[in-house]
Amino acid sequence: MILDKFGLNGKVAIVTGSNTGLGQGICRAFVEAGAKVVGVSRRPSTETAEMLGDGFYNVIADLGSCEVIPRVVGETLSKFGRVDILVNNAGVIKRRDSIEFTEEDWDGVMDVNLKTVFFLTQAVAKEFIKQGGGGKIINIASMLSYQGGIRVPSYTASKSAIRGVTMTLANEWAKYGINVNAIAPGYMATNNTEQLRSDGERSADILSRIPAGRWGTPEDLEGAAVFLASSASDYVNGFTLAVDGGWLGR
Ligand code: NAP
Repeated sequence: MILDKFGLNGKVAIVTGSNTGLGQGICRAFVEAGAKVVGVSRRPSTETAEMLGDGFYNVIADLGSCEVIPRVVGETLSKFGRVDILVNNAGVIKRRDSIEFTEEDWDGVMDVNLKTVFFLTQAVAKEFIKQGGGGKIINIASMLSYQGGIRVPSYTASKSAIRGVTMTLANEWAKYGINVNAIAPGYMATNNTEQLRSDGERSADILSRIPAGRWGTPEDLEGAAVFLASSASDYVNGFTLAVDGGWLGR
């Protein structure tokens, strides 16, 4: 049955940035689809844990440094015995005129959005290869994987790079049955866009360009996330799927 291919029964997923926003939505969707989820967050994912009960386990870790990676993978394996899916969702954005941008503004974003993503992905892929049954990696990209944006140079650099690295890793690891793909959300109503949404002029500009006529929600991303985590996407490799209410088509 085709719908069975979308199920995640028996699968174990790591989702970073599990306390809020899009990451919280992905955790909820995965548990509903039958997976056990390890949520990684720098603050406790209390609300997510209350929502999801036994299907969810929280690892507290600051992904601004790669030092935490062995513990994230180790705690996942000791809690649930394996790992099948990784969603690199945690991300930060720094909005400042490029002419004023500091090295700290650059590194703070690149470390979380790109460096840790790469090395966490590498660590999880090593487990996939050891386990022998393939696996699924989903990176969270952005409209700024395709476009320049304004006042967000490190964010655009990180998200453009994520789209490229998604293709590189897919090329190298498809032979192990590992699917590496990304989702590029459009403009979604989360903490990430709070500053934009509270700026009347910018907010109206953005909204007028979205064919769907509204900001996206965490629920809007859930179908794409479950698809890319499930065997329904076994022949999808290195692709970045936009969930954007039509933004890129304009
Ligand atoms: P969000 O509500 O700000 O969520 C970001 C998540 O990343 C939070 O859980 C945050 O934890 C976590 N995080 C940030 N730095 C971390 C660190 N050093 N260690 C551990 N966790 C860290 O925004 P969101 O919209 O859900 O963002 C999720 C992803 O979607 C991000 O990669 C973002 O770039 C991407 N995205 C969002 C949009 C949008 O319109 N919202 C569009 C395109 C792409 P804290 O709560 O502790 O900060």
